[in-house]
Amino acid sequence: MKIGILGLQGCFRPHIEKLQKLAIDTSLVLSVDDFKDVDGLIVPGGESSTMLKLCPDDLWQAMTQSPIPVWGVCAGSILLAEKTINPEQKSLGLIDMDITRNAYGAQNESFVDEVTVFIEDEPQAIKGVFIRAPKISRYGKLSILAKFADEVVAVENDQHMVTTFHPELSDSTIFHEYFTKKVDKFHLAI
Ligand code: GLN
Repeated sequence: MKIGILGLQGCFRPHIEKLQKLAIDTSLVLSVDDFKDVDGLIVPGGESSTMLKLCPDDLWQAMTQSPIPVWGVCAGSILLAEKTINPEQKSLGLIDMDITRNAYGAQNESFVDEVTVFIEDEPQAIKGVFIRAPKISRYGKLSILAKFADEVVAVENDQHMVTTFHPELSDSTIFHEYFTKKVDKFHLAI
């Protein structure tokens, strides 16, 4: 299995390090050919409007019909949404949710706080790193993977998932392990 990380801009290197620790093959995705070569894709945090400007048209087009699981992290979650607010911008529509950018405030209001993860049988507390994070303002029939207080901060459908915070910047590997399993399961089912 090979996991691709969209490498146009932003926080992509820590994902490579996390996945290497789990002995998973990785490669950076910069073109549609790179995208065809991977079994799952992480769209990392960074600046979603900049990624939109840098993304080649054919790669964007291919991602809107993604045949593989995609995990959007922070800016990546913004790009995966159905609809983006504050301000409105183009998105992939892979997850049935609306998302509000920079919803906790400006850069200096970024924070680290406890997130409760509902992946294992028992809820687990991990450190959640929120950097100019968005908020999920509406979601459809999705499973909730994590909450910060009353706020839903990670969701999934059968194929894709998003986290509005940065699991690659904390010690936990729970989300990287979970995505790897999700990719495996997805390919076994098709
Ligand atoms: N505020 C950024 C955006 O709107 C996301 C920040 C992040 O990815 N940490 O794209």
